[in-house]
Amino acid sequence: MKGVKKQHLPQKLCATCARPFTWRKKWERVWDEVRYCSDACRANRSGARLTATAGPGPRRVR
Ligand SMILES: [Zn+2]
Repeated sequence: MKGVKKQHLPQKLCATCARPFTWRKKWERVWDEVRYCSDACRANRSGARLTATAGPGPRRVR
């Protein structure tokens, strides 16, 4: 009887589909920045800013 292979991998919730996804090897360097479970979700992220060319702060044109 050998020890159970119980990996304790971190999880996150996808910002698009709200499903939990588990740490993957390919994310080991960018895990802090990963917010989507897949490339598809990253492309389909809701509320994406289409035009974010303006800098921070309100833009008043008067
Ligand atoms: Zn997702």
